[in-house]
Amino acid sequence: MTAQTARSRDLATVIGLEVHVQLETDTKIFCGCSTEPADDEEPNSRTCPVCLGLPGALPVLNEAAVAAAVKVGKAIDASIPEETRFHRKNYYYPDLPKNFQITQYDAPICQDGELAFGVEGEERAVAIRRAHLEEDPGSLQHVGGGIDTADYTLVDYNRAGTPLMEIVTEPDFRSPGEVRAFLAKLEEVLEYLGVFDATRDGSLRVDANLSMVDADAVGEGGAIDAATLEDANRTEVKNISSHTGAEKALAYEQSRQKNAIQRGADVEQETRHWDESKGVTLSMRTKEEEKDYRYFREADLPPLRVADWKERIAIPELPAARRERFRGEYGLSREAADKLTSTKQVADFFEEVAEAFDPNLAATWVADELLGELNYRDIHVTDIEGRLDEVTRLVELVAADEITAKNARETVLRGMLDDGDAPDEIVEREGLGKTGDDEVAAAVREAIDENSDAVADYHAGEDGALNFLVGQVMQSTGGSADPGTVNELLREELED
Ligand code: ADP
Ligand code: ZN
Ligand code: MG
Repeated sequence: MTAQTARSRDLATVIGLEVHVQLETDTKIFCGCSTEPADDEEPNSRTCPVCLGLPGALPVLNEAAVAAAVKVGKAIDASIPEETRFHRKNYYYPDLPKNFQITQYDAPICQDGELAFGVEGEERAVAIRRAHLEEDPGSLQHVGGGIDTADYTLVDYNRAGTPLMEIVTEPDFRSPGEVRAFLAKLEEVLEYLGVFDATRDGSLRVDANLSMVDADAVGEGGAIDAATLEDANRTEVKNISSHTGAEKALAYEQSRQKNAIQRGADVEQETRHWDESKGVTLSMRTKEEEKDYRYFREADLPPLRVADWKERIAIPELPAARRERFRGEYGLSREAADKLTSTKQVADFFEEVAEAFDPNLAATWVADELLGELNYRDIHVTDIEGRLDEVTRLVELVAADEITAKNARETVLRGMLDDGDAPDEIVEREGLGKTGDDEVAAAVREAIDENSDAVADYHAGEDGALNFLVGQVMQSTGGSADPGTVNELLREELED
């Protein structure tokens, strides 16, 4: 094709992902070393002959890692084989002391799944080709520069052997924005399953493949035929570690390829590196092919029968189903249901409160008040997990009409979060207990006696008079009277 015709081509973007997620287990996938980084741990302190790859050391498969993978398989509606097997993927890199990675090849633990997600108000679903188990390599620390400019590089094997699941999608994405929405949804599901910790550094890493094809090749519902996908020159961008990073790296790569094609140049099939700080992708090497890895069976691990694990292992209700149930069962708005199912902890807590008191009160207090105040302070429900009983107590005080909603929100909840005090302590200290009925009635009579002008205005039909009297009562009771009750009592007295 000439540069002239190239310039006029309409192009469509094609993206497929290989997402690596660390599975949360106590110990590594093939040895007993801990997976939990200590705060001030020394490099290479959580290691043993197995994860250091010393000659003669033998791997032992961690059952918990397989169980976590089966949960993921169930959540993405994948098929799980009768028997799963491990392979050696051979390559030389300093973070991989054995010079091969134990991974899965022809009998992965999950195949043919799907994940649905919402993007810009639309439902999308992406096919998941496979999801397999493997070991995480160690980590490299480049000193004095980036991967290409460092003075030297240190290697730490503490991460080596952390269970990883590699989730490979079909090239079903049509924009970087879709990728971002998919990753958010994937994380949500993994967290619900209790197999993943999004707050851990590097717990999600993405290799993103992108190519540009003729817009004409995109058919009904976004489908593209296999030959077009096969022929398109694509790049694989490595070193992406966040949703926004993925979106940015892919947007960069998309315009880089588009520009090349429109100049009439070829897109090299290659592996590129995402430089987060510079916001660019850089060429690393020509893309390796499957045959380069010399896959062969891992003879030190026997095949594992997993045929009945799918029935044996239960998974919790997933966010989408729970959202629907919340709307039906508790009559919540879509917005409230979305907020209340944003994490499993929030949803569990809401249900606890809803059962003890009243779903509407629970929804207001968890979705609006609590999450609002937490958001404002940039903290998560998990950070106050030990104090949820106190939040329940606060809702109880409101439900029992012992304090006003306003005081509960503005004084008690904020005091709890800012000073760490218990709700009863704050109510006592600030004298927030609702004023007894007798006291309110006395304050109402006093307001009427002392404000004859306002009373006359009220009888003359002036709107503001009643509000003025309510204000007087609220003031004399120190804000602890219920404004609704005051209003009612005042009307009664004035009409007598
Ligand atoms: P390889 O053999 O190079 O590993 P695969 O067919 O196994 O290639 O696919 C690897 C990843 O590349 C998958 O995530 C897949 O969705 C993605 N992919 C395949 N074809 C394309 C394409 N034309 N454009 C973008 N991504 C693609
Ligand atoms: Zn070890
Ligand atoms: Mg591949």
